[in-house]
Amino acid sequence: MRLVLLGPPGSGKGTQADALIKRLTAPKISTGDMLRAALKAGTKLGLEAKSYMDAGKLVPDSVVIGLVEERLGQPDTKNGFILDGFPRTTTQADALGVLLERLGKPLQKVVQLDVPSELIVERTIHRRTDKRTGQIYHLKYSAPPPNAELEHRADDREETVKQRLAQYEAMTAALLPYYQKLGLLVRVDGVGEPAEVTARVLGALGLSA
Ligand code: AMP
Repeated sequence: MRLVLLGPPGSGKGTQADALIKRLTAPKISTGDMLRAALKAGTKLGLEAKSYMDAGKLVPDSVVIGLVEERLGQPDTKNGFILDGFPRTTTQADALGVLLERLGKPLQKVVQLDVPSELIVERTIHRRTDKRTGQIYHLKYSAPPPNAELEHRADDREETVKQRLAQYEAMTAALLPYYQKLGLLVRVDGVGEPAEVTARVLGALGLSA
């Protein structure tokens, strides 16, 4: 299955992608994770991306398109992939379309995770990640175990989240009509327990849980 997960920051794309990996036996490709890894490794690309990420702005299209192009060339994407956080602009969506056409692997579905913006801020400011496992928790609704080594993403602070939401509205929301026109978009209610949402996503893809 070749899939894109679309939705505002904190809509559950990462959590759902992690849940779908096993069911779809396809890797998750998260440009946010790739950029954070580059930043941690101190690469030139990571340093270039840092100022945009810290400000809650989008990293330039050419940078993320290059990353995804390279990643989709790797053999583990042979049976499909779950794109999380890419594309985020119509330029990125166009580039992805051209690339997948060239590879003979067109997208099969784009899943929109629909979560009202009032909930987004609440979700992101309480989101924590276990540094060792990458597992995502919510301090109130999906409490981490006592031995977790928790990290709070720098860009999950309230002011930055608001800026990221504004970027979503300004740049990314246009991808909903874009993929609707291509007949690829399916909308899923993203409110509820992660497992419930996963079951809805699988249902929307015509798969059993
Ligand atoms: P995420 O983890 O997907 O929320 O991404 C975290 C940050 O990485 C975003 O706020 C952007 O600064 C940057 N980023 C991730 N993916 C993209 C993308 N496709 N285009 C531009 N910037 C991105």
